[in-house]
Amino acid sequence: MAVPKKKVSPSRRGMRRSHEALSKPTYNECSNCGELKRPHHVCPSCGHYDGREVAPAGDALKSAVHT
Ligand SMILES: [Zn+2]
Repeated sequence: MAVPKKKVSPSRRGMRRSHEALSKPTYNECSNCGELKRPHHVCPSCGHYDGREVAPAGDALKSAVHT
């Protein structure tokens, strides 16, 4: 339900916005090359996942996998 802006105190507004922060993406070390990579993603620097190479490493992979 819409509430007039002046009826919401700065404290109330702050309490509501305390849950609006964005969380940072997490990074883990790649078990193959040690670079930081996102968990459950193919490593962008060496192309390994779950202990084996699943994609050719290189700049093409780095641009395809957004890190
Ligand atoms: Zn790696």
